[in-house]
Amino acid sequence: MVTIRQKLVPTSQALKMTNGKNNAKKYLVVHETDNTSVGADADAHARLQINGNSREASWHWQVDDQEAVQSFEHFWECWATGTYVGNSQGIQVEICVNSDGNYLKAVENAASLIAKIIKDEKITVQNIVQHNHFSGKNCPRNIRAGKVSWTQFMDMVKKAGDVQIPPVETRKYRILTGTYSTLKAAESAAQVMKKSFGWLVYIEKDDPYYRIKTGTFTGINAAKNAEIKIKNAKLAQVTYIKDA
Ligand SMILES: [Zn+2]
Repeated sequence: MVTIRQKLVPTSQALKMTNGKNNAKKYLVVHETDNTSVGADADAHARLQINGNSREASWHWQVDDQEAVQSFEHFWECWATGTYVGNSQGIQVEICVNSDGNYLKAVENAASLIAKIIKDEKITVQNIVQHNHFSGKNCPRNIRAGKVSWTQFMDMVKKAGDVQIPPVETRKYRILTGTYSTLKAAESAAQVMKKSFGWLVYIEKDDPYYRIKTGTFTGINAAKNAEIKIKNAKLAQVTYIKDA
């Protein structure tokens, strides 16, 4: 079972990053991000798309070892396969390969997500294809190399189709840090959250100290992941999850 949330690219922007809204939804296309950077997880890729992804590429879903995040409704024709047919008839799922993530878990989560999508959209199992099917690109790279074989992956999808699919999360949360003794210390931690994580952050005065409050995260899982990111980067010793 995978946690699912939406972080949709606004329509005005989606119109500039797709071929429009007439996706035939015939294929489910499996990709890997090929981005092994630390922190290049589903949330980071969803933010990249919202920030107007400079590579002129787009995809519907990104999945990591924690969650699946949707960037585009399925009717959009995303630019992901390098071919007209693949883009106009495919729902694109990117599996994250960030080096600080658990690849096998990300693949399992992708299988669980794909089982849900093909059920919702009435796509046949035979029409789950690799990006390679359309353009010959070596994608999804690790699956094609047999790290998890395509046969194993398809077995995971079939099995996942038999279990119950979780609801989409809608509840919103913020992270509040413990206190910093100086404004400068709060600002330097806030800067990392802004620049490296791509988050909205606010500094709040808590006399005579300071705290950082983040923008909102949808779903408790996303909020917990954000806390882990803060702690791993040693930006705060104490954090709290608050309802937004
Ligand atoms: Zn691909």
